[in-house]
Amino acid sequence: MLEPAYQADVVVVGAGVAGLSAAHRLTSAGVTTMVLEAAHGVGGRMATEKVDGFRLDRIGQLLSTAYPELRLTPGLDGLVLRPFASGVLLHGDGRHHRAGVQPGAGGARGALHAVRALASAPRPPSAPRPPRRPVAVPGRQVSVPRSRPGAPLGTAVDQARLGAALSRLAGTPAERLLSRPELPAVEALAARGLPARTIDGFLRPLLAALLCDPGLTTSSRCADLALRAFARGRLCLPEGGADALPELLARTLPPGTVHTGVRVTSVSTTSVTTAEHGEIRCRAVLVATGARAAAELLPGLRVPDFHPVTVVHHTTDEPPGTGASLLLDADLGGPVAHTAVVSLVDPTRAPAGRALVSSTVLGRPPGDVDTAVRMHLARLYGVPTARWETLAVHHTAEAVPAMRPPHDLRRPVRLLAGLYVCGDHRDTSTVQGALHSGHRVSAAILADLGAGRSMHVAEPVPTVPRAA
Ligand SMILES: Cc1cc2nc3c(=O)[nH]c(=O)nc-3n(C[C@H](O)[C@H](O)[C@H](O)COP(=O)(O)OP(=O)(O)OC[C@H]3O[C@@H](n4cnc5c(N)ncnc54)[C@H](O)[C@@H]3O)c2cc1C
Repeated sequence: MLEPAYQADVVVVGAGVAGLSAAHRLTSAGVTTMVLEAAHGVGGRMATEKVDGFRLDRIGQLLSTAYPELRLTPGLDGLVLRPFASGVLLHGDGRHHRAGVQPGAGGARGALHAVRALASAPRPPSAPRPPRRPVAVPGRQVSVPRSRPGAPLGTAVDQARLGAALSRLAGTPAERLLSRPELPAVEALAARGLPARTIDGFLRPLLAALLCDPGLTTSSRCADLALRAFARGRLCLPEGGADALPELLARTLPPGTVHTGVRVTSVSTTSVTTAEHGEIRCRAVLVATGARAAAELLPGLRVPDFHPVTVVHHTTDEPPGTGASLLLDADLGGPVAHTAVVSLVDPTRAPAGRALVSSTVLGRPPGDVDTAVRMHLARLYGVPTARWETLAVHHTAEAVPAMRPPHDLRRPVRLLAGLYVCGDHRDTSTVQGALHSGHRVSAAILADLGAGRSMHVAEPVPTVPRAA
């Protein structure tokens, strides 16, 4: 039989971070790769809108310097992570209380970037210092706030127990966490022997924010992994906006690898069909879209439930006095799950003299979400917000796939020889999960195609003109 004329070894459908990270590993191994993206830019859900000098993310902000794939993914060497102030700031009983951990001392590249970025970040003259009231726990990296009866974390003994629990979790191997019995997170929390107010005042709001899941129906194993990352590293933002991460990955691919504005309508093991340019032949196809689009291209794939997320961006010329902290509501007294003056975390996100406040609402938002958010923010920050200007309200109905138990964190990425799938729905519903699925699938494709060998010299593809 004649060898068919391939236009690439592998066609990747979708230029989110999962598809781009897989493409990076494939091209680095000498496999010619074509990435086809339906939208007019790369990044998928990691999109950043640029308005009047502001950079407004669609996603809910929370990455961790302890995400292993931020360190392991080739092409992300240049990524700068801007850390929030250590731990989180809890609003409870009308006051702010700091709770949390110091950055891990393991020398993770992300943490180093974070620390360097922190050291070099200019502090706007009007920015007040974040409140600092940590008490060191001897021999531990964990810090807890001073005891105050009625504070969300309870008594000094309660707080020391929480500190010790987080430190233990930080040192527990991931595989051990994954072998624990699996329950909905809300049930597992109640069985961990921690005081009710530690759970309600700190762990519940923190986990809801980390998992985008206000009901904590997520698998307790995924919740443990999220808490472990929190305890090992620092919450952080990519400098310049969420889109910095996919754009960095796309820029480091060989020129002409990514083609935007090309929608794939069907796939097989040896070709894809596109709406714009007909059939493109290849030796393997990787579907790297979100879960719903993947199930349309690959009938039989399960479509999960999703958690909706709304992100509201405001600006003011007078930043509230919480510094670079991530602020959570221990009292759950309104729609905002977490909020921050992100321009104090990453000054590149707002023009000089303006503060950018970004707030995340989980679940179905209330009718007049902007008014409800403003009222809640006035209580959380303790300042009037009526004059704050609304820059954007981004609602994403299918923001993150739900991870209810039983949740398989390593869903198969190889469907058939020649047909593969990756994305956050194969792993955990986070940037870490999406990157890790790209890591796993590239290993599977390289194993099938014969790793490290140059597969094919790409033919020019005149029918797919736009390269990003
Ligand atoms: C509002 C919100 C808040 C979030 N908060 C956090 C957070 O705080 N922390 C965290 O870690 N994660 C968060 N996430 C999740 C994180 O953004 C995702 O897990 C990750 O970006 C998923 O990447 P992906 O590559 O798997 O998929 P996507 O980013 O969805 O990429 C898939 C790509 O495929 C393209 N595509 C689809 N169909 C086709 C087709 N037929 N042909 C060609 N291309 C196609 C799409 O246009 C898209 O670009 C949040 C997400 C949202 C939306």
